Amino acid sequence: MALTDLQRLESESVMGTYARLPVEFVRGEGTCLWDAEGNEYLDFLCGISVNLLGHCHPAVVEAVRDQAGRLMHVGNLFYTEPAMRLAARLAERSVGGKVFFTNSGAEAVECAIKLARKRRPGGGFVVLEGGFHGRTMGALSATPQESKQAPFAPLVPGFAAVPRDGPPLPLVRAVTDRTAAVIIEAVQGESGIHPIDSQMLAAARDACEEHGALLICDEIQCGMGRTGMLWGWEHAGVPPDVMTVAKGLGGGLPIGACVAAPEHADVLVAGDHGSTFAGGPVAAAAANAVLELVDDDAFLDAVHAKGERLAAGLRGVGLEVRGLGLMLAFQAPEAPALVRRALLEQRLVMNATGPDTVRLLPPLNVSDEEIDEAVGRIAAVAA
Ligand SMILES: *Cc1c(COP(=O)(O)O)cnc(C)c1O
Repeated sequence: MALTDLQRLESESVMGTYARLPVEFVRGEGTCLWDAEGNEYLDFLCGISVNLLGHCHPAVVEAVRDQAGRLMHVGNLFYTEPAMRLAARLAERSVGGKVFFTNSGAEAVECAIKLARKRRPGGGFVVLEGGFHGRTMGALSATPQESKQAPFAPLVPGFAAVPRDGPPLPLVRAVTDRTAAVIIEAVQGESGIHPIDSQMLAAARDACEEHGALLICDEIQCGMGRTGMLWGWEHAGVPPDVMTVAKGLGGGLPIGACVAAPEHADVLVAGDHGSTFAGGPVAAAAANAVLELVDDDAFLDAVHAKGERLAAGLRGVGLEVRGLGLMLAFQAPEAPALVRRALLEQRLVMNATGPDTVRLLPPLNVSDEEIDEAVGRIAAVAA
């Protein structure tokens, strides 16, 4: 089918919620993608950090093939090994405690919200300006962005937003004995890659301690090794009570998780929450394969080094860069037009988070040569 046919089908049959660029991808391997005409692209976006180990990583493909050929789904009324193993490893390598599986990021956030609300009945939530936590009504209520929220008012009540930048005083003041939780992305992704100051995270931790509220870290974009440490909150040394993960967890398959520390691991009990597809053996097998490779000190050190190389390369061609590890952004006027030119003229996949910010989320196993090549292509379009 030609691209024009796909575009016609889209306009006739698909709700217009996405602004798609005019390329049809048909194959991927590592950092490379191929379109229907056989052109090769470098993917420095990875489906917004979903293809954490690049496209079709052999270990992930093998885990999926093997599991899909034996058992795809039985549901949560029975046991399957991949989900139990994944839960144990995720909890052990983060906040301890227990895991609730989901199929997406927003659902992991919903679980965290329900857990915090049940623990402190009627309690409110404090979130940071610029934060993004998903599109379902609860997660959207935690996402203080006027353009995303306004059409869907009234939202879930009880969410207050405080400034992300500057001293933590407004946040500290907003947390009271009636606060169920503070929700923070250690590195804000969707709003344009903004690492949260470690003093802000520490102040949130202290305020939660003082008032018996939960600190929820949304690691959906910045977790799973993306920043050069397994979790974004590790940079500040501030462990949360509850953590949400998704995006890269499944290496390309949809799976998310909400992890609660031991003291909060039994707040949700039978009948409180559920999800038909969640924790299915195929997605869990993929996630086990991803964690096996990413949860490794040498691998994470390499992510850090690659991030330094990419940031230095971009600075070397005169760009203003921010971020941590391989979660980076640079400033550019008319970013959406630049991203379009990079795709169509330089065959480099990136994303604009706003009018003047270009976001880069390459695979964590991207090579030095691919990094240097991408910098060259960016320089060519930014010139
Ligand atoms: C993408 C994202 C979400 C939402 O995840 P979905 O899978 O799109 O529902 C939530 N929080 C953060 C930090 C994200 O980056």
